[in-house]
Amino acid sequence: MHWFSSHLMSWFANNKRIFPWRASDASLFVQVVSEVLLQRTRAETVAKFFPSFVLKYPDWKSLSEASNADLERFLKPIGLWRRRASSLKNLACAMAARHGVFPLGRVEIDALPNVGQYIGNAIEMFSFGKPVPLLDVNMARLLERFFGSRILADIRHDPYLQRLAGRVVDLQEPKLMNWAILDFASSVCSIKPRCETCPLRKRCSFYKANALETTSGKKLLTNASEFGLSPQTKRGTAVRPISNSTTKQE
Ligand code: SF4
Repeated sequence: MHWFSSHLMSWFANNKRIFPWRASDASLFVQVVSEVLLQRTRAETVAKFFPSFVLKYPDWKSLSEASNADLERFLKPIGLWRRRASSLKNLACAMAARHGVFPLGRVEIDALPNVGQYIGNAIEMFSFGKPVPLLDVNMARLLERFFGSRILADIRHDPYLQRLAGRVVDLQEPKLMNWAILDFASSVCSIKPRCETCPLRKRCSFYKANALETTSGKKLLTNASEFGLSPQTKRGTAVRPISNSTTKQE
């Protein structure tokens, strides 16, 4: 675990992606709203649109006062505009009524409109520095390849993956560790992993299992969909197909 996190953070020091919501002076509003927008959308796509969005809607109050039609029109370029407009507006109305202050307790955070496990974790991490994982399909893919695959299909309810992700982000500064995992999963341990240049391959379960397959004359698996079809779906060797899961940035 320590080896994994220290190698990942070394990689992140030289390869981190720069986004507006990661700026040191990014407000809590910016951080949380960006996470809502990043769901099911590439970070690079959101990054292009984000500056104009926060210029028009710089805080919870302005967002709560936006009409649904305006919000939908504004969000159209990044897709899922109806759903995103409704989610953001509902959350903004609740937060404006709370004068922009998030509740302290997790039960109350979860009771905010359109706050699921992922956004709830993001709120706890950004607001209070809690070591909670931003566990999406990308983080799940990296953790499962390196440590071994989960038990349940839905990452939100898989106890092994949830515990594992929680432990990993608790070893270093949680925000940086979460970002390191997301960036690494996007550019190295992507759907088609770049194992040959990966700094984690020495101890990666997936790499070791596939190196064995390659030396024994079987083909190297390179695609996530192949993991699910592989007979090697037991823990430590491969990744299950991910369905009905929380998704976010790539
Ligand atoms: S060796 Fe390959 S599968 Fe393992 S973490 Fe690196 S890129 Fe991912």
